[in-house]
Formats: sequence, structure tokens, C-alpha cells
Amino acid sequence: MSAEPIELAIVVFLGLAIGSFLNVVVHRLPRHESLVSPGSRCPSCGYALRAADNIPVLSYVVLLGRCRQCRTRISARYPLVELATAVLFVLHYLVFGWTPLLAIRLLFVASMVALFAIDLEHRLLPDAITLPGVVIGLAASVVLPPGFRDAVIGVLAGGGVLWAIGEAYYRYSGEEGMGGGDVKMLAMIGAFLGWQQVMFTLVFSSIAGSVIGLIVIAIKRGGMKYALPFGTFLSIAAVVASLYGEQIVRWYAGLY
Ligand SMILES: [Zn+2]
Repeated sequence: MSAEPIELAIVVFLGLAIGSFLNVVVHRLPRHESLVSPGSRCPSCGYALRAADNIPVLSYVVLLGRCRQCRTRISARYPLVELATAVLFVLHYLVFGWTPLLAIRLLFVASMVALFAIDLEHRLLPDAITLPGVVIGLAASVVLPPGFRDAVIGVLAGGGVLWAIGEAYYRYSGEEGMGGGDVKMLAMIGAFLGWQQVMFTLVFSSIAGSVIGLIVIAIKRGGMKYALPFGTFLSIAAVVASLYGEQIVRWYAGLY
């Protein structure tokens, strides 16, 4: 489809602004701090950011990645989350156009960016994101793709399959393999994308996780634990599924 310049500009602006908000979520949600007040501060010297210090990406570049007052390094995570959100928003706009489905998918992809960063930093997938995600995904599916029936099956398949794997692993090894957070996250992915895409997400993230896990084992020689938490792979796979999952599933089915 062709991109309207005005729509594209709005999507870029929205991506940067929401990416900036996601940085607040990533920093504060795991610490159980309010998302709205107080305003952003330098974690090192407490300097309260002014509007000019808070422009997505640009402020980071202008300040050369340091606090204006104490010159402490600011994590590169801030501009990266803003850029990634904007890029993913634009890709979704190019796939879905200016449609109601775009709005709901932008909400979905923003949640995936937050879960990716929080899991990477804190090894945690907060219920405060995944559980409302299940509800919102199901509600949207009443009028939008994948449709309510596929979404309900998606929740049950996504949550259920991972729960069963975790339970079997626990009985077999006596060790907790996957956290309950992964199960709820996959249920949320099922609610937004339907059962086919939840299966795609599960397969894609497992392969990506195994490949990267093997590379890490080869480099580090030993240590069977994955270097990265499973939720990070789930987020990447879910974003791919949201954008291109339907084509990939159709292509795969066509092979047989
Ligand atoms: Zn500072």
C-alpha cells in the first residue's frame, strides 16, 4: 500500500512519544513506582528533566548520552527503545494502513517492546501488562481480526501449551523451567493474534532461543542456562507474527 505523508508523520511522532513513555514504564513498573509522577529525573543526581531534555532520541544525541547536570552516562536503552518503537509503528502502518486494526496492533507492539526490555533488565514479565493485555485482546477480537473464536482458542492454546510444557519439565526435572509470566504473555499474544500466530510465535521463539542458546554455550563452554530470558524471544517472535505471520504461515502451508 502507499503511505500518506501526514499519516506517516503521525505514526513516527506517536512511535517516538510512546517509546519515550515505555522507557518510564520499563524503569518504574518493576519498581512499583507511579508512571505519571514525579517527572523524569536523573537516577544519579536527581536533576529534574526539562522539556528540552526529554525530546525522544534528539535530546540523547544533543547531550551526547549524558545527564545535563552531572554528566553521568544515560543508558543507550532510552534512545533505542524510542527508535525501535517508532520503526515498529511505521512497519505496522505499512502493513495495515490507516485502519482500526492498526490502532490495536500498535497497542500490542508497544506492550511487546515494554515486555522485551523489562524481561531483559529484570527477568520479569509483569502481570500489570500481560493480564489487561489478555482482556483487551479478547475485547478487540469481537470486532477485529483474528475474531473472537480464534482469539479464545489462542488464549487457551498459548497459555495452555506453555503451562503444560512447564508442568512436564517441572515433574521431570524438579526444577522450574518457565515462569508463569511466559504463560500469561503467550495467552496475551493469543488474544491479540489468534491461535495460528500463537503457534508460530512459540515455534519461532523456541528456534531463536535454541540457536542463540547454543551459540552462548559454544562461546562460554558449558552453562546450559540461556543467557537471555524467554520473554525477550517471545516479544521478537510476536512482533514478527503480528507483521508477517499470516504470509509466513500461508507460505509454509503451501509447501505441502
Ligand atoms: Zn545527573
